[in-house]
Amino acid sequence: RGTSPVPPDVRPRLTVLSGPSGVGKSTVVAHMRTVHPEVWLSVSATTRKPRPGERNGVHYFFVDDEEFDKLIANGELLEWAEFAGNRYGTPRRAVLDRLEAGEPVLLEIDLQGARLVRQSMSDARLVFLAPPSWEELVRRLTGRGTEAPDVIERRLTAAKVELAAEAEFDTTLVNTSVEDVARELLTLMLQASDHPDSSG
Ligand code: 5GP
Repeated sequence: RGTSPVPPDVRPRLTVLSGPSGVGKSTVVAHMRTVHPEVWLSVSATTRKPRPGERNGVHYFFVDDEEFDKLIANGELLEWAEFAGNRYGTPRRAVLDRLEAGEPVLLEIDLQGARLVRQSMSDARLVFLAPPSWEELVRRLTGRGTEAPDVIERRLTAAKVELAAEAEFDTTLVNTSVEDVARELLTLMLQASDHPDSSG
């Protein structure tokens, strides 16, 4: 481990994995972490409380509201968004350092964040993770059926809007199997940029 998976003739760029909530983005990233520990994953800052098993600095940097305000004020976030009552943001410096060092970088962020990255880094590749079917997404979002019908209704309405965002993305990967998606994602990350430098 420790060696770069990037062939020397390839210019890596930023890859953004996004998609509707409940589609399985974090499972894909967890798999990537296990199978390809050499791939650098951006660690986001969040005001959300840690879940059991989550470690500070590994899954997220867990900060309070005041610290998050400071990150924004100091321009330290590449993008940030509010999601389900908490704030999430991508630390800018670490991402830029990796890209400058020629390493591929993967962000796993929500749809609002993906749109912001598109605006600030035009050669980022935006990858949309889609559910195998609408029925499958409904099944995942309704979970064990413990939620109130109006909550489920709201989540399904939101999911329809989120699915329509696919049109804004460069590439779609269908989440049929986590192993397949992780492999396809790594292939995309290692592809040369097809956006020539605009300077020349
Ligand atoms: P969770 O609380 O389940 O870990 O994440 C909730 C949502 O926040 C997911 O859709 C995840 O992709 C997104 N997210 C995680 N980190 C970031 C980030 O740095 N920026 C943005 N915009 N979204 C993020």
